Amino acid sequence: MMDVPFDVQSIRDAVARRDLSASEVCRATLDRIAALDPPLNAFRTVARDRALARAAELDARRDGAGLPLLGVPIALKDNMCTRGVPTTASSRILENYIPPYDATIVARLEAAGAVIVGKTNCDEFAMGSSTENSAYGPTRNPWALERTPGGSSGGSAAAVAAGMVPLALGSDTGGSIRQPAALCGVVGFKPSYGRVSRYGLLAFASSLDQIGPLASSVKDVAIVLNAIAGHDACDSTSSQVAVPDFGAALEGNGDLRGIRIGVPRHLFREGVDAEVMAAYDAALDVSRGRGADIVEVTLEHSPEAIPVYYVIATAEASANLARYDGVRYGYRAEDATALGDMYDRSRGGGFGREVKRRIILGTYVLSAGYYDAYYRKAQQVRTLIRRDYDRAFMNADVIAMPTSPTAAFKLGERTEDPVQMYLSDVFTVGANLAGLPGISVPCGFTSTRLPIGLQFTGRAMEDATVLRVAHAYERATSWSKEKPRVASELSR
Ligand code: GLN
Repeated sequence: MMDVPFDVQSIRDAVARRDLSASEVCRATLDRIAALDPPLNAFRTVARDRALARAAELDARRDGAGLPLLGVPIALKDNMCTRGVPTTASSRILENYIPPYDATIVARLEAAGAVIVGKTNCDEFAMGSSTENSAYGPTRNPWALERTPGGSSGGSAAAVAAGMVPLALGSDTGGSIRQPAALCGVVGFKPSYGRVSRYGLLAFASSLDQIGPLASSVKDVAIVLNAIAGHDACDSTSSQVAVPDFGAALEGNGDLRGIRIGVPRHLFREGVDAEVMAAYDAALDVSRGRGADIVEVTLEHSPEAIPVYYVIATAEASANLARYDGVRYGYRAEDATALGDMYDRSRGGGFGREVKRRIILGTYVLSAGYYDAYYRKAQQVRTLIRRDYDRAFMNADVIAMPTSPTAAFKLGERTEDPVQMYLSDVFTVGANLAGLPGISVPCGFTSTRLPIGLQFTGRAMEDATVLRVAHAYERATSWSKEKPRVASELSR
């Protein structure tokens, strides 16, 4: 296999200098996917023709040298629309769906010179924490094949962790970028709500969904964010706030003097694995060593975050998924006798178990008679959770938590117990409910060599501060450089 560098800057510079062509980088990437993906199932679709055509186009251009992602391969979660390339959200109901348009992130990535090489596996409609809800089989964790990569952006995390692509995008509604990043030992960033356009993202829960990057370093995450962030007239929830240079936030020597890191230790009393806790405490020491002040903060209503999330997210999902009815998009049951029957059979046959569970739950919490008891109440507690963060951010610049209470769990271990599965996200859903930026960076390994992730969240629209603190931690440690064995063996 051809030796292609794996960080964004080196690939970009090599292509700009014409040491490598974009086509060579693209072919090497396609070869790596062909060699590494079969046991992992990280990819739903490899967009070989589109990628090679795009790379050839870049090679033919004379003015590409200034593009920040020139020739850099990237994979997209399969819930982001790509014109002419199947986009299924890992659901049967969209098995044959080929979008007639590109998501805004696709247009922006391509304008920056990136080459989209394929679509990654995920939980159906991004509902899950293990990628086991995909209608097309689970993705496996490159560090331990009998374990989950996390979810729902498990394919994106596994593809980066295994060394198939240097970059991937995921979507995060309650933790779906950060939790798989943690379980696969890569960096994953959920930007502030509104920072990145969601035009062309198949909606799950519109007040929570955000698109963001997964990569091998904070720097690469910042480079992608520069390319995709900013207002988009096609997404009315995208923010008008000016986009800073996220790369510039990482300059300097990693000194954290003046930064206060908040620690909500009252949340860690039960359910957090001891090895995760030890890695977390060691990580705080590293940040303290860089000059940060560690302060205690309280997020009083965070224990309610999971129930609140599962009321709001399912309510919104029940509305968003109403459009899949067999009439316009995707799968239609052909044997129906009347319209109502056609809806029933198309939806009944097209959606998987977890998606149905959520549509039913979401319809219930919105229904007359239950709306006040569930949906309205959840919105009220959401406000309290938000206010807790506002208060905590008066005393702290970022808040540090473990990303996930445990390292990667075994495939099948939590599929029969939805609540156990939902608890994977105790530390991540808060950032979505409050609209805050959050990052997961590798911070160690368990004794059986499973990656552990450290999460920093920050004030809304202070994405740059989160990136800076995570970068300072990353450069003081070497966890991000560790690679799983399957990848290193195959690339030798
Ligand atoms: N695991 C959470 C859920 O199943 C979060 C999913 C996500 O962020 N897309 O809803």
